[in-house]
Amino acid sequence: MSQGKLFVISGASGVGKGTVLGRVMKVREDLRFSVSATTRAPRPGEEDGVHYYFISMERFREMVDNDEFLEYDLHANAGYGTPLKQLEEKLRHGSVVLDIEPVGAGNVKKKMPDATLIFIMPPSMEELERRLRGRGDTSEEQIALRMERARWEMEQRHWYDHTVVNDDLDRCVEEVLQIIAEKVDEK
Ligand code: 5GP
Repeated sequence: MSQGKLFVISGASGVGKGTVLGRVMKVREDLRFSVSATTRAPRPGEEDGVHYYFISMERFREMVDNDEFLEYDLHANAGYGTPLKQLEEKLRHGSVVLDIEPVGAGNVKKKMPDATLIFIMPPSMEELERRLRGRGDTSEEQIALRMERARWEMEQRHWYDHTVVNDDLDRCVEEVLQIIAEKVDEK
């Protein structure tokens, strides 16, 4: 059926996953990004159909009922899901990367065992908290919630295929590229 390989990247909010992914995709132009659907509001700079498909909760429920998601999860007061059709179409043309959290990653692995799961770790929890604060746009309550979620996410890393520490951006990007190359370029 599909020809490309599937990669799942997870990592706590503030870990720099977006930056890592951006750099990785600049180098590997053959890699496509799976655009998730979400019910949360767009942040400044986010474009519909590029970063996410921004949909209503009603449409989200409809997609769940119609089995239109490969996986979905409700967290941070919003629904998030991977639209199946779009993913299958992208996989026909090449390898695809999903940026999803551990519940979704586990469900993807069950349905597509060949998927490669990569967990991006912060150098330490103290550093993660420092980075979250550094953004300056997050309330104390939000920081506490995100740190709690991050601690839970960190416990899930053991069943990922790879964990990569983002203490040095260049090295972290290199490691992720290596993992992808091993899988995509293998004969
Ligand atoms: P954010 O709202 O900050 O963009 O994303 C919050 C969390 O939702 C991140 O951990 C991100 O990886 C995760 N996420 C984004 N899209 C999906 C999806 O389609 N499914 C699941 N399960 N998680 C997602």
